[in-house]
Amino acid sequence: RRDNHGGEQQRARLVVLAGPTAVGKGTVSTYIRENYPDVHLSVSATTRSPRPGEVDGVNYFFVSDEQFDHLIETGQMLETATVHNAFRYGTPREPIEEALARGQSVLLEIDLQGARSVRKEMPEAVLVFLLPPTWDELVRRLIGRGTEDSVEQQRRLETAKVELAAQDEFDYRVVNHEVSQAAREVVDLMAIPKK
Ligand code: 5GP
Repeated sequence: RRDNHGGEQQRARLVVLAGPTAVGKGTVSTYIRENYPDVHLSVSATTRSPRPGEVDGVNYFFVSDEQFDHLIETGQMLETATVHNAFRYGTPREPIEEALARGQSVLLEIDLQGARSVRKEMPEAVLVFLLPPTWDELVRRLIGRGTEDSVEQQRRLETAKVELAAQDEFDYRVVNHEVSQAAREVVDLMAIPKK
């Protein structure tokens, strides 16, 4: 494939997909996993329990607090964060380095804190912010999925306001009107040089 520099081989990219709660990051990354097998989707470790249908090693590596500590202590994590004041999440370093080394682009679906950490650790990473079409649509999606009670919903909406204000730190913004379109836009960013 040609790139913008006239036909050299494209370099694999590390793309970070972040965005506010309920914007559909998980849905977009699942869609990419199922439809774009060339993309290496990073599998995070987490201390939360699996939800129905989630598979260990596919959606996450579900680990205990002790195992999570061990991963940090042995230098295996690229970044870690405590999300929504509850559970710990982190990105294993080695699978990413291996994928990039064999020329495969990598997608990380992580929160804003994680995106900032990755930017520091790997400045060549491309940061993509996923946006809802409108604020009202974000509220509708959060309430519609029904996985949080109303107190938690309010808390997440407050967080979402703060997170939306961080969008200028990102290299690209993608509006999630519809999952296949948003996924296409994210994958397209994996094949173009960072601006
Ligand atoms: P959930 O528990 O709903 O799957 O994910 C909760 C939040 O954790 C989401 O915002 C998701 O992007 C974030 N997250 C998932 N994996 C990681 C990770 O490895 N690092 C960081 N910093 N955030 C993550």
